[in-house]
Amino acid sequence: MLSAAEIRDRASHLKSTLPPHVRLIAVSKFMPAAAIRAAYEAGIRDFGESRVQEAASKRAELADLTDITWHLIGHLQTNKVRQALQLFDWIHTVDRWKLAERIDTLLKERGAASPRCLLQVKLRPDPQKYGWEKSDLEAALPQLDALLHLRCWGLMTILPLGLAPSEQLQVFQELRAWGEELSTKGWQQLRWQEYSMGMTQDYPLAVQAGATMVRIGTAIFGDRPSALKIQQQ
Ligand SMILES: *Cc1c(COP(=O)(O)O)cnc(C)c1O
Repeated sequence: MLSAAEIRDRASHLKSTLPPHVRLIAVSKFMPAAAIRAAYEAGIRDFGESRVQEAASKRAELADLTDITWHLIGHLQTNKVRQALQLFDWIHTVDRWKLAERIDTLLKERGAASPRCLLQVKLRPDPQKYGWEKSDLEAALPQLDALLHLRCWGLMTILPLGLAPSEQLQVFQELRAWGEELSTKGWQQLRWQEYSMGMTQDYPLAVQAGATMVRIGTAIFGDRPSALKIQQQ
């Protein structure tokens, strides 16, 4: 693991290279609370976690850092929604109708502040990943727009492995263009302001294509333990 000083340096350097309108989410999955604390000291306030349980224990350890914005960036099982709603300010991974409906139902019961959500989409076929296919999401949008408690603010995507850089850029541009096209259609609830795209390997292209949030782990915290990499999605 990197030292706290190394994490601080990497985090502040990375922050200084991003345009001010792009929110840097430090992806701290599999990293200890001390690593989050180091990035926090460098001015990072947004952290991304992929698993509900892991986020719960880190939040408890970091309870003194009250101004962190927590982002869920991993697949959310329907039976963990209740807990996720208490832990996260943003849920990037609304990837199916059942999940959207479940979030909406629990928020209706709860009536408290609710996390903002993003719809996770796949613009290229990718059996390894969760997410709506474009046509499925388009078909579901009227129903999603009718959910009064779910707050969708935009789109999220993860690229399939192995795309050439020119194609990576193209997919990011397609996501942004699609969101802008959708935004002109007069929705009641749905908003199209946020584009969560770009990771350590591809974030400069995502920024170029109009990302509003980038999710960066390795470039800040170093490599994750390799046995865990396999399950990182
Ligand atoms: C792990 C992960 C990231 C960060 O990946 P890095 O390559 O370490 O920057 C970003 N987004 C999602 C959805 C992830 O699961």
